[in-house]
Amino acid sequence: MKLEIQNLSKKYPNGNKALDDVSLTIESGMFGLLGPNGAGKSTLMRILVTLLEPSSGSVFIDGLDISKHRDDIRSVLGYLPQDFRFFSNLTTFEFLDYGARLSGMKDNKIRNNAIHQMLETVGLYEARDRKANKLSGGMKRRLGIAQALINDPRIIIVDEPTTGLDPEERIRFRNLLSTISNRDVIIILSTHIVADISSTCKNMALLSNGKLAYNGSPERLIDSAKGKIWQMTVNSDEMDKISNLFPVTTTIPVDDGWEIEVVADDPSPFVGTHVEPNLEHAYVYFMDKNSNNQIIDIDEK
Ligand code: ADP
Repeated sequence: MKLEIQNLSKKYPNGNKALDDVSLTIESGMFGLLGPNGAGKSTLMRILVTLLEPSSGSVFIDGLDISKHRDDIRSVLGYLPQDFRFFSNLTTFEFLDYGARLSGMKDNKIRNNAIHQMLETVGLYEARDRKANKLSGGMKRRLGIAQALINDPRIIIVDEPTTGLDPEERIRFRNLLSTISNRDVIIILSTHIVADISSTCKNMALLSNGKLAYNGSPERLIDSAKGKIWQMTVNSDEMDKISNLFPVTTTIPVDDGWEIEVVADDPSPFVGTHVEPNLEHAYVYFMDKNSNNQIIDIDEK
């Protein structure tokens, strides 16, 4: 599978420019789309699933222009939106049945089998006759996933995957997606939570103010922050000063003040020791540079 996004821009009728000339190629596997709130992630996702038209630019799925092949494209897509509304009167089973019909599964027997199997996969078989809107938060999320996967999609788009899930549900959700990502399928996870990306995605993109700020592997982004993360112990006076100068990513109270981690090319006048960066450090470093309009050069590997 190949998804090609070419020079995509979106300006809403009120003048908000949500996407600005974004070009990106995504191949099979798990792909992370990261960016702060308002960066344009949902706008991009909604264009990809043909719910929204771009102002300019195009998207191709395996060479097919999505604006010209809407029906074909919809039959290969699974979309799990951020705020998922359930029709109040449907049971879990009926809800999935409705979704399956909408995605074009016409044969009753095939559809029934697929629904039963999907209910087992997401652990909702026992809850099949319960009203969907009475399920717990985690169960609702799983029903959303089941709905997105019922037509065996080739491209799965998940907006803010783990918001509102407890740790157990998060793990379960990730494992479910990893199992699927072994096939020739593209899974796009859109999130503002760095940890959701690091453990699962081979490739990622960073959106900032509607622009593509980074595209590559999480490891390469982490490498770019090497030598820029500093650990030090400060008192409260120093804490005030340093947090005005540099982003502080970790603050741990200790006897004589705080042990902190700071993101900076050079933390002087403060002195610290280097810490190995993780994706969160790298994200903060990158966004800080980006907001100051500094381009950082990341070597191709
Ligand atoms: P994200 O998903 O990264 O939080 P969004 O795509 O929701 O970002 O929003 C990107 C920008 O577009 C924001 O400035 C937001 O306020 C604006 N925006 C989103 N939806 C609309 C809309 N329907 N009308 C006008 N502006 C919008």
